Amino acid sequence: MLGLMQDWQLLCHRIIDHAALYHAERPVITRSIEGPIHTTNYVEVRARALRVAQRLERDGIRLGDRVATLAWNTWRHLEAWYGIMGIGAVYHTVNPRLFPDQISWIINHAEDRVMMIDTSFLPIVEKLADRLKPIERTIVLTDAAHMPATTLRNAVPYEDWISEADGDFAWKYFDENTAAGMCYTSGTTGNPKGVVYSHRSNVLHSMMAAQADAMSVCSRDIILPVVPMFHANCWGLALTSPMIGAAMVMPGAKLDGPSIYQLLDTYRVSFTAAVPTVWLMLLQHLEANNLKLPYLKNVVIGGSACPRAMIQKFQDVYGVNVCHAWGMTEMSPLGTLGSLKPEYASLTGEARLDVQMKQGHPPFGVDMKIVDDSDRELPRDGKTFGRLKVRGPSVARAYFKEDRNVLDDGGFFDTGDVATLDRHGYMQITDRSKDVIKSGGEWISSIDLENLAVGHPKVAEAAVIGVRQPKWGERPLLVIVLKEGQSATKDELLGFFDGKIAKWWTPDDVAFVDEIPHTATGKIQKTALRERFKDYAFPAVAHQ
Ligand code: AMP
Repeated sequence: MLGLMQDWQLLCHRIIDHAALYHAERPVITRSIEGPIHTTNYVEVRARALRVAQRLERDGIRLGDRVATLAWNTWRHLEAWYGIMGIGAVYHTVNPRLFPDQISWIINHAEDRVMMIDTSFLPIVEKLADRLKPIERTIVLTDAAHMPATTLRNAVPYEDWISEADGDFAWKYFDENTAAGMCYTSGTTGNPKGVVYSHRSNVLHSMMAAQADAMSVCSRDIILPVVPMFHANCWGLALTSPMIGAAMVMPGAKLDGPSIYQLLDTYRVSFTAAVPTVWLMLLQHLEANNLKLPYLKNVVIGGSACPRAMIQKFQDVYGVNVCHAWGMTEMSPLGTLGSLKPEYASLTGEARLDVQMKQGHPPFGVDMKIVDDSDRELPRDGKTFGRLKVRGPSVARAYFKEDRNVLDDGGFFDTGDVATLDRHGYMQITDRSKDVIKSGGEWISSIDLENLAVGHPKVAEAAVIGVRQPKWGERPLLVIVLKEGQSATKDELLGFFDGKIAKWWTPDDVAFVDEIPHTATGKIQKTALRERFKDYAFPAVAHQ
């Protein structure tokens, strides 16, 4: 017997229809690439998205065709997404921070027919033009007055291009499992892999994200997605915000401390999300200028482990609640979020911080378990760590153009992370499986050590890698960037670990560097550090 409910396919353009009808006046404010602040609302975003859809169709773009976007978070990028999805074409966010070779590789692999691009990224793409074979037309996300001279074939300013359509157009309707978006994972080795989101997975993910124990956002929020749309769907916020009718503030190209502070303050932003690197820049700016954050209520921090000192500072100094979150491109991306369940809600001080250092618990729609190397499930005791596996309706089951099944027999996807799960469902990452340090057969968590090290007042950034060592196999090396104008001795930094971790976890040495290399999504590039220090020899230390 079947249920007798309506067949209402979960299509992404229904989200912008809903926003335009029920949250019509809500502003979408952008720091434009051209400079000035631009303000629009969901009615206009929808109207212009319809013109994008109509115009794409006139250019011959059809169901399943891929449209690349190389763009910052702006109202035009938002319109483009909905316009592309509204005819069943597929937005393909390309991370402009990738190496040029990777950009051309993924555009060719995805077979993008159209490219929408911010003026700031034109120089990168002009150099690659000969290699971007499938691109038939380039739409530059600006107006005629700001259109730079370009050597790209068939380049046209976005505003001219959509002005050729009147918007008298109806969305297309199709199966909810149709592809809606694509994003390649920024693998540090090998070729990137294409993750393909469907309309259904995007809509379900947005509903999961909005829950009170997830992002906890609503129509009264003013949301600043600092995390770019090209980084794992900007954690779903380009879909979740219109779905719940929240106002949006789009940061454009400027993600530095002063620029983000100005938006937070001027537009009374209540909710924001980004990787720790962004918040490091903001906190430094606040401290240096004695500024406060009177309007901001919640900040979601993820993408890499959030340092304890950062959570503490946001909460104790600025009165902003921190939600530590974990996810990955393959998960659309949300996996866990760190709201406090009743079991932990009454905790204060260090005990509360201990829980907030965990990456949080999964919303409905994410199943998770930890397993050992023989795939045996491990206990959820908050101590035992193993390979973290996940499944759910917004988790990838395969990569684009790869026949290989990436799931195990139970339908679980191996995240490549090593984690603990506690009895209340909180997950804590201890490492990437390839970054964990194996010393004398025991595992040392590089993330725990990094988190402690950045708590030192003189340290700007820290990375810990395993380096070969004859007796123990591997030992931890602490790589440090000091804050500007600071100096510190090795002993001073290593002494900082005393009493905070098991003695044998203490790194054997410290290397001071000017800069730590990052991947295109802002994560520490451990492969590059391991390469740099591969011939490094440790000094003799007591425990050896
Ligand atoms: P990406 O697909 O580029 O978003 O990268 C996903 C990976 O980032 C995860 O598998 C984790 O290794 C890492 N990651 C994301 N969020 C966190 C977090 N809060 N703490 C530690 N690692 C994280």
